[in-house]
Amino acid sequence: MLNRDWHKTYRMPEHPTLDQRVDWHLAHAIACGCREMPDTIKREIEKRGLAVPERNRPN
Ligand SMILES: [Zn+2]
Repeated sequence: MLNRDWHKTYRMPEHPTLDQRVDWHLAHAIACGCREMPDTIKREIEKRGLAVPERNRPN
């Protein structure tokens, strides 16, 4: 899927909660990965005992 299409489908809410940011960045890192996950989000994922997904780097 093109990054463009993914971003059109999965928009970050305008005033996202931390949960929404974590969910968005988890999905984004796997599906798109056009930019690095912020460290605050990585730390939050680790705090929740989840694995930080490897960034899917676009070609
Ligand atoms: Zn992206």
